[in-house]
Amino acid sequence: MFKVAIDGPSGAGKSTIARRAAGELGFVYIDTGAMYRTAALACLRKEINISENPEKAIEIVNNISIDIDYIDGEQRIFLDGEDVSEKIRTPEVSMGASSVSAIGEVRKKLVNLQRELAGTKNVIMDGRDIGTSVLPDADVKIFLTASAEIRATRRYKELLEKGITTEYDEVLTDIINRDKQDSTRAVSPLRQAEDAVLADTSDLTFDESLSLVLDIINNKRNV
Ligand code: C5P
Repeated sequence: MFKVAIDGPSGAGKSTIARRAAGELGFVYIDTGAMYRTAALACLRKEINISENPEKAIEIVNNISIDIDYIDGEQRIFLDGEDVSEKIRTPEVSMGASSVSAIGEVRKKLVNLQRELAGTKNVIMDGRDIGTSVLPDADVKIFLTASAEIRATRRYKELLEKGITTEYDEVLTDIINRDKQDSTRAVSPLRQAEDAVLADTSDLTFDESLSLVLDIINNKRNV
């Protein structure tokens, strides 16, 4: 099995690039952020404040099922059987995911699920801790990043395209807050693995970023 780990901060383009690269290589793409988002959605539906009530969040997450399926090659994610793939993309769920992912017990459950998924297939998995914690033996590790302003601009356009109205400043603040929360948390903070290749896409177009990632992977596969 060949395993690729792509980590980096919010809005660096990880998921779009990882999905396309997986398509080109015939690998399975696993979006781990979607799992934390689904856990957060479950907590938000129960109207709990995740940071103030982590015990309750753990109880909720331990009692839900999160399943991944592939429909026409696209990853879909299910919360207790309901397809929530679109519902987890709101700014509220983004912040909730950042809070719920700081809870060690929650990470334990989701990391087990991620390792299970990666066990039997060639995969590209993206997240924050894939190279450092989930798949420390990955064949290729990439740390994909870009400046906060560039990431906010990209995320803002993406949200508009999906019909979600928001302000650019709000998106930028959200990105800066999530960066801080993700990289300063005690459990599995966001950081570049020692053996990861750094890919900064601030000055690259999407196609250039994709080529860079494919080159890094293909170099390791000797193709
Ligand atoms: O990648 P995405 O923005 O969908 O992830 C949502 C949140 O889930 C992140 O801000 C991060 O806090 C958390 N996450 C994580 N570990 C991962 C993937 C995501 O902590 N492997």
